[in-house]
Amino acid sequence: MVLFDFLFISIFINFVMWHFEFRRRNKFPVILLFHQIETKWRPGVGWNYVKQFEAFMYYLKKHNYNILPVTVLLEKNHTYSGKDVIITFDDGYEDIYEYVLPIMKRYGFPFAIFPIVDFIGKYNDWDFVVGPKTKHLSEKQLKILAKNKLVTIGSHSLNHLDLKRVSGEIAEREINESKRELEGILGKSVEIFSYPFGKYNEKVRRTVIRSGYKMALSYYKGNKKCDMFAIPRTGVYAIDSIFDFAVKLHRYVPVLSWYEDLKGRTINLLSDLACSNKRKNEIC
Ligand SMILES: [Zn+2]
Repeated sequence: MVLFDFLFISIFINFVMWHFEFRRRNKFPVILLFHQIETKWRPGVGWNYVKQFEAFMYYLKKHNYNILPVTVLLEKNHTYSGKDVIITFDDGYEDIYEYVLPIMKRYGFPFAIFPIVDFIGKYNDWDFVVGPKTKHLSEKQLKILAKNKLVTIGSHSLNHLDLKRVSGEIAEREINESKRELEGILGKSVEIFSYPFGKYNEKVRRTVIRSGYKMALSYYKGNKKCDMFAIPRTGVYAIDSIFDFAVKLHRYVPVLSWYEDLKGRTINLLSDLACSNKRKNEIC
């Protein structure tokens, strides 16, 4: 009995120590990745209801998370609190202007948008879509957003191709031209790249650096070392409850975090497969 008590207390103390040590070491911000924000149900899970998104933002406010602009990652020696969150949107859909901007203005939360430059103002024909297509932000909307202090705009390539599978020449164009075209539209420097499908290899990563970007965002866990050109993000999906959302923020709950990571990777893999299959003729 004494041995049992000793073992139990020992495991408990170790768990508490591990928990606090993990939290102490794991202060890098959680970078959330959203896509479409919709009022109605649509096939797939790479989207969120407006009400669901608003509930997530309310959760962040209620639990005193610090919402930081993505550009904070460019500051050397920035000290993080352990409750820092960065909010990003890939693909640049029109619903950001319509629904997200008013919510974020109300909460005073900064956020980043990564539009697909050759699809600005167009429908999402690049994607494998079941059901109604979705329109991307127009040039006019992007210009208005770019003037807002809460908003950072980066590039998500020209055509949303899997940059690991295209030729070096095409990858170079997708990365380099999208930067220059977006800078022409916004009238300001574009410093951050978001890899389509979060996919990159060393060649793609080097092209991003050579093109003059200061940082690149991916999905999920990147390299073990802090790499400014492979920054991991956590996807948020239509199937996520408030509990799931909380788990994404509390990375120190091992089993649940592992489940959230696996869920995100599976969703990303499926969307990549569907999209790549649709567009295989464009990839050489
Ligand atoms: Zn994307």
